[in-house]
Amino acid sequence: MLSVDEAVAAVLRHAGALPTREGRLIEALGSTLAEDIVADLDMPPFDKALMDGYAVRSADLAASGERRFRVVEEISAGRTPTRALAPGESARIMTGAPLPSGADAVVMVERSRSPDQETVFLSGPILPGLNRLVRGREMREGDLLLRRGTRIDATKLGLIASAGRLDVWFIPTPAVVVVPTGDELVPRSRRPEPGQIRNTNSVMLAGLAMAWGARSAVEIAIAPDDPPALRSALHAALIGRRGQPGAIAPELAQGRTDVLLVSGGVSMGTRDLVPAALGDLGIAPVFHKVRVKPGKPIWFGVGPPRSGRPGALVFGLPGNPASAVIGFLLFVRPALDALAGRTPPRPYLTSARLGLAFEHRGDRPTYHPARLDEGRAFPLDWAGSADLRTVALADGFLAFPAGDESYREGQEIPFLPL
Ligand code: AMP
Ligand code: MG
Repeated sequence: MLSVDEAVAAVLRHAGALPTREGRLIEALGSTLAEDIVADLDMPPFDKALMDGYAVRSADLAASGERRFRVVEEISAGRTPTRALAPGESARIMTGAPLPSGADAVVMVERSRSPDQETVFLSGPILPGLNRLVRGREMREGDLLLRRGTRIDATKLGLIASAGRLDVWFIPTPAVVVVPTGDELVPRSRRPEPGQIRNTNSVMLAGLAMAWGARSAVEIAIAPDDPPALRSALHAALIGRRGQPGAIAPELAQGRTDVLLVSGGVSMGTRDLVPAALGDLGIAPVFHKVRVKPGKPIWFGVGPPRSGRPGALVFGLPGNPASAVIGFLLFVRPALDALAGRTPPRPYLTSARLGLAFEHRGDRPTYHPARLDEGRAFPLDWAGSADLRTVALADGFLAFPAGDESYREGQEIPFLPL
């Protein structure tokens, strides 16, 4: 059985960056930039006023005291000055407008006195460059603004736009599809009959995928524990086939599933049919079972490459909700990072100090839900892998190593954030 680190390494060996594509800027939000962005002009493109006020030659106001200026024109943003300033002259100017030639400073309107349209009184001393943004101060034509490999957030979209770009090359974020399996499952809209249970994993796994940067996360209808029906549901989820129950998203119709998350059916029961069904569909198994609690039966495999695209990464997550969460955080999250070109993936463990003494017993490394309070981690009273309610209140999981051990208050323990 693999350790967690070995299993993460195995996932990452199969998770290369998705093929780059060109798209509108807004589509690239959250993605990795796949080209260098270079400035195509100076910014600002002219010496620019940073205040509403009066453009002047600062030499005219080098001394202290008030001085009278002739107002020769008014320049608002979007206009260009029609003449240069001579000594003793000023121009009424608005924020963002170009300074007239000769002017090298702007006195703000709040510090002026203007008895009529043609006259203004301004006071010195002022320094050259007051309230002026010099041409090219922000960027010069030819400057490298962003390197390929940069994560594109909203401010970076703005910067790319400043280089005049409509489209940009980027590594897309992955499209995720979630398939819940189990004869006992009913849609969450239904009240379960005896022996039945509501499907809570689909929306939770889709939500985790979206929270960790998936482009889309589609929930497919519940698949039963029956080989032919399971096979056809998984096939539809992988390559897309219309006529399946449930919504078929564009990703599916185009065979663009990058990551398939199957919930349930990977344990040792007689109705745990997912590994065999995936095998029948040509998904090559990479590992089954990891030394971890909860979540030991996790299955991972890789589909065959499809016209120019790498094969889908397929995770069979155990059905117990906490096991599915742990499987996602430990193994799916780094895969989403790697597919989206985020290298290296975000480290999956941080650390936290225990808020109280705690005894942990177990023969596998264990992830125990905990709340953070003022930087300290408090293990929650938890009923185990079926107890989602406690997990939903947690900030993450304390990662206790295998073995029976008494931990001290204040002791530093690895922590897996949610
Ligand atoms: P399995 O991994 O299929 O053996 O399922 C383990 C347990 O997880 C079962 O007892 C189910 O009650 C529960 N379970 C399985 N799938 C789901 C689901 N989609 N939502 C909530 N609970 C589930
Ligand atoms: Mg099951």
